[in-house]
Amino acid sequence: MFRHYTIIIIIAIVIMVVFTSNCKSSPAVNAQNDHIVIASVLPLAGFAEKVGGPKIDVFEMVPPGLSPHTYEPSPGQLEKVSNAGIYLSVGSGIEFEIVWLDKIIAINDKMMLVDCSKGIELIEASGSLNDQNSDHDDEGVYNGTRDDHNRRGTDPHVWLSPVNASIMVENIYLSLSELYPENESIFYDNKVDFQNDLEMLDMRIREILMGKIQRKIIVFHPGWSYFAREYGLEQIVIEKEGKEPSPGDMVSIIDYAKDSGIKIIFASPEFSPKSAEVIADEIGGNVVLISPLARDYIENLIKVTEAFEKSME
Ligand SMILES: [Zn+2]
Repeated sequence: MFRHYTIIIIIAIVIMVVFTSNCKSSPAVNAQNDHIVIASVLPLAGFAEKVGGPKIDVFEMVPPGLSPHTYEPSPGQLEKVSNAGIYLSVGSGIEFEIVWLDKIIAINDKMMLVDCSKGIELIEASGSLNDQNSDHDDEGVYNGTRDDHNRRGTDPHVWLSPVNASIMVENIYLSLSELYPENESIFYDNKVDFQNDLEMLDMRIREILMGKIQRKIIVFHPGWSYFAREYGLEQIVIEKEGKEPSPGDMVSIIDYAKDSGIKIIFASPEFSPKSAEVIADEIGGNVVLISPLARDYIENLIKVTEAFEKSME
């Protein structure tokens, strides 16, 4: 009798163990449905949060304050990739994706890969790191195919024009709706709201820059080509191919700034502004930090535009 109870208890324990271990493992099996969205850079993560709201969990690969031109993901981040439903790539030839995207895709082949730059005309890189490997296609126009995320020779900072941002938001909306169709109408309302905000931002930027005759900005890192194209500015870059400029380059930028009456040199918190400070000292001006990678896109771009406006006075 006693023996009989022992067997029943043992069977019960075995059933419980099997049952609880099943319970534990089932979220991992269904992890594709957990609505985890991963974005290469913070602004994209911000766009996804606007469209997805509380329906999705968004994680960025390149953390705040670090550079997507050099960042390497942590093992914890790669673990996160294995549970993600969607990966939002910038798609414009940013070094983080050139180096890591193949490896990231290999971790989770069920994950939907989105090229957020699809439909945007990319600018050819000049004087940047990308120049050294130019196997890009003609005119740097993106053709939207899935396997050319290894593109090089294009300027990657595509998100820094609100007009482009609106296209990226559309791409994010389409992919979220495809993978999570049950939330499509929520995503739609969110993206329309955010695209309206981006349109207001675009008008606000035009208003701030209106009437400026001198439209040159001197920047350490060449992050603002798309912004400059959109709003008719000229970006003069200090950095040479991702490195500090030579003394000769420094002299010509100092002369250029003096001739143009420019007093502000722009640098980013993600890059050492040493040469920017040297140039600012020489022209009796100062360095202003602007971020190409802020998560709060609209607030940041208004701040940046106001800083540009001051430097063009
Ligand atoms: Zn950059």
